[in-house]
Amino acid sequence: MRGRGFVFGCFFDANISVFKICIFFQKSSILLSKVRSMRKEYIYIGILIIAIVAVVWGIVGLLNTAYKTEEAKTIHPVEEIYENENTVTTAMEEEKVSPNAEFALKKYYDECSHFQYEEAELPKELVNLNEQEVEDYYEDWEVEKFSADQVVLGKEINGYCNEHFIIRLDDDTIHVYQLGTSGELKEYQSTDIARDYLPEEDIEDLEEGITVYGEGKLSSVLEDFE
Ligand SMILES: [Zn+2]
Repeated sequence: MRGRGFVFGCFFDANISVFKICIFFQKSSILLSKVRSMRKEYIYIGILIIAIVAVVWGIVGLLNTAYKTEEAKTIHPVEEIYENENTVTTAMEEEKVSPNAEFALKKYYDECSHFQYEEAELPKELVNLNEQEVEDYYEDWEVEKFSADQVVLGKEINGYCNEHFIIRLDDDTIHVYQLGTSGELKEYQSTDIARDYLPEEDIEDLEEGITVYGEGKLSSVLEDFE
């Protein structure tokens, strides 16, 4: 019997079915070895691809580094110019408050959208400070304008400004009330303009209260009643 059946180590009689099994095993083993050799080939191909990629990567990397070094060399003088410009700009940013600078506070009132601008004496502590230092000095205020000659600080205030007045008839004479920051009324001025000398129409308005904005307007309205 073709001894091939025994190649795989089948020590059985030449029984056909056993023989077939042996052939099957033999074929399988050939196939398996083929697969193995194919695997090996794949592994070699794989290693080769990785090697090629690594070499190409290395070359690209080297070229890139070389290019960057070259670029750095060419750009360097330009950077030096920029550096000089920056020094000049920084010197300008480093502007400091002069001892005779103007100083003002700007308050924004969010209830009435008015703002109040008050000039004040420059606090001595601000002299020779730069913008950032002034900003840091005041926790609640923002630096709105800054130069050696002028510092303006701004702040938002929750409420009404102090320019809202109500003119009203109380105890038969005209009184002026001021609207407080949170909307409360406080007596601002009492006059000797008496109810008896006012026309009926004005009395009605004054009993309800006339709202006036600004001290200038307040004086002119009061004059009309005198
Ligand atoms: Zn206001």
